[in-house]
Amino acid sequence: MHVRKGDTVVVIAGKEKGKRGRVLRMVIKSNRLVVERVNMVKRHTKPTQRSPQGGIIEKEGSLEISNVSLWCGKCGAARRSRIEEKAGQKKQRSCAKCGGAFETT
Ligand SMILES: [Zn+2]
Repeated sequence: MHVRKGDTVVVIAGKEKGKRGRVLRMVIKSNRLVVERVNMVKRHTKPTQRSPQGGIIEKEGSLEISNVSLWCGKCGAARRSRIEEKAGQKKQRSCAKCGGAFETT
């Protein structure tokens, strides 16, 4: 898996190509993920206790994991990550090009 929840990713294929956002959710089973403000879809919802009116709400739809790439803020481009291991430290993912850390909080 090249991205994780909380990463900033850019869409590299499909109709949402070029959009950027944070990964909100991973759907491992179907190799998909949900990215903040990307692939917004309208859902017609039935009335529930929380929204007694029901109606149309907009929410993020899922994307194929293979259609997104990690985004390096430093490079300003989609980049691959590299795992760096330093003695006595946690493994860290960093940009393969500039070496900037990808670790997210
Ligand atoms: Zn970079």
